[in-house]
Amino acid sequence: MDSPIAKHSNTRTIAVLLPLPLAGPYDYAVPDGVSLSPGDFVTAPLGARQMVGVVWGAGKGGIDPAKLKPVRAKLDLPPLPEDLRRFIDWVADYTLAAPGAVLRLAMRAPSAAQPKKPRRAVAFDAPDAEHPGPQLSVQQADAARALGDAVQAQNYSCTLLQGVTGSGKTEVYFEAIAQALRQGKQALVLLPEIALTVQFLQRFAARFGAAPAEWHSQLPDARRRNIWRAVASGEARVVVGARSALFLAFTDLGLIIADEEHDAAYKQEDGVIYHARDMAVVRAHLKDIPIVLSSATPSLETVVNAQTGRYGHLILPDRHGGAQLASIEAVDMRATGLPAGQFISPRLLHLMGETLARGEQVLLFLNRRGYAPLTLCRACGNRMECPNCSAWLVEHRYHNRMLCHHCGHEAQKPKVCPACAAEDKMVALGPGIERLAEEVAAAFPEFTPAMLSGDHSVDQVRGAIAAFTRGETKLLIGTQIIVKGHHFPDLTLVGVIDADLGLAGGDLRAAERTFQMLHQVSGRAGRAQRPGHAVLQTYMPEHPVMQALISGDQAQFLAAESDARRARALPPFGRLAALILSGPDQQQVRDFATMLVRHAPNGKDLHVLGPAPAPLALLRGRHRYRLLLMATRQHNVQALLRRWLGRVNVPPRVRLNVDIDPYSFM
Ligand SMILES: [Zn+2]
Ligand SMILES: [Zn+2]
Repeated sequence: MDSPIAKHSNTRTIAVLLPLPLAGPYDYAVPDGVSLSPGDFVTAPLGARQMVGVVWGAGKGGIDPAKLKPVRAKLDLPPLPEDLRRFIDWVADYTLAAPGAVLRLAMRAPSAAQPKKPRRAVAFDAPDAEHPGPQLSVQQADAARALGDAVQAQNYSCTLLQGVTGSGKTEVYFEAIAQALRQGKQALVLLPEIALTVQFLQRFAARFGAAPAEWHSQLPDARRRNIWRAVASGEARVVVGARSALFLAFTDLGLIIADEEHDAAYKQEDGVIYHARDMAVVRAHLKDIPIVLSSATPSLETVVNAQTGRYGHLILPDRHGGAQLASIEAVDMRATGLPAGQFISPRLLHLMGETLARGEQVLLFLNRRGYAPLTLCRACGNRMECPNCSAWLVEHRYHNRMLCHHCGHEAQKPKVCPACAAEDKMVALGPGIERLAEEVAAAFPEFTPAMLSGDHSVDQVRGAIAAFTRGETKLLIGTQIIVKGHHFPDLTLVGVIDADLGLAGGDLRAAERTFQMLHQVSGRAGRAQRPGHAVLQTYMPEHPVMQALISGDQAQFLAAESDARRARALPPFGRLAALILSGPDQQQVRDFATMLVRHAPNGKDLHVLGPAPAPLALLRGRHRYRLLLMATRQHNVQALLRRWLGRVNVPPRVRLNVDIDPYSFM
């Protein structure tokens, strides 16, 4: 710096990024005798507050250093590594989020860690790469060797590991982890639903003789701080975690695995809106290390990348140990003549009876929590709706409550209709898992069905899954929470109550997701020596998704999906970005949305759709409008959006969220 100000003072300045949604890092003065490097955690004043932040680099200058506030203290924490800082900047740039908001994802633990607190030291056992693990089949061993080579190469590569449910993909990528451990590297395994990973942890311990470090949002604070430090110091060698584990400060990361890579739970839908699988590929790229994407039903995005050669592709075509895939049949619900209030077809009931009589287990899948999705007055047609959202209140009979699944609004179930005051006219329409349990209990009084959904705590879910795995319960009824990763040796029949549920609505991935979910849930059946069978109850047995499930022809289904998306330039062949506007005053939100469209970019192969009221037009008391930017892959969507949004001022009470590569269109 050769400015006059700098000549008057020898105060050094640094830029500190604070975990707040600010435009970027702020400059601070460095007190004499203090040595600071990029990545160091410091406390620094912001207004009257002292905040923990990270030294991001040299100061920008332009302000008299004598007028800058000094950083207060350097914290006794391992610095945030350079590759993680670059990753944070990259994610912020891609998602149009504030860098400090992304930094916060990497600071959930240390920001809570006050430097004076005593360290509780918890030892992390070292997983042993040479611990004798299960015997691999020839197919598994070949795939494991290929992944091991990729790890040994110690540079970026992305490999799709595709195999039917039960083909032993986990054991294959364990060998890649073993190779990383041999090379003294850390490994990260991302799972979409960490709360449900009991069996993963057991299999890991069986292979490596020790548990991995587990990272998810429900950990107590002290445990989170411990793990954060152990990852940053290198003490924790393997981490299994939900999407936020991607922002841990690994000291020597050598491998990333994203298991169930197709899973929609990888998309973070609030705060910083990002897709953890896509960002995992970016992190691997920036760190120049291999990443493995594992799935039985890979996303079209990943399949296309494998087909074009951007990703490697390893396929395990058979189930491990010679087990057969479940046979799948569709039951045409148009022809069942079920009485109102009953949801299990005679065919499925018959098969359930046979299965239970053989001492085997039954799983019923219905992706709907609670008792009934809709409560309606038979006298006047009034529907019980949430006052804050465009959504029905869902009856939860077990808790004797009406609940909004979007905002958590609770109400008593009314005895008289709130609209017309008619008595005893409120009826429950449609099934939730609680109502299904009632029907099952009436049909099979000697069996008590267990229920699992997002209403249950992690411990309850783990307990129920353990009991079902041991065969103590014979009947399990659940939502998508039961779809993933579980291995039930005596489960031979899966019944899908409403196979069409996911096909409703205009989501571009509705068919793909329904296929993935139903394929996965059907794959729970018959994983050991006994063959499994799955029944899909559907009103659309001729739908391509149902046909693909019955025939088992996943490749043909994906090819048809791929053609349809290519023809409409939809992802992965085109790019999307959604703008979601919300606010308490509907007119104000609509006016701003209309104004935004007037400033919309135009160009070849570029379209802006909307504004349209969002399907969830009212959410938590805020009125919502959506705009969708569609562009070919040649366009730089982020640059377009920055220019566009730079031309308008968002009114004070309106919120504007940008969702790059949207997965939800609600
Ligand atoms: Zn009424
Ligand atoms: Zn609500």
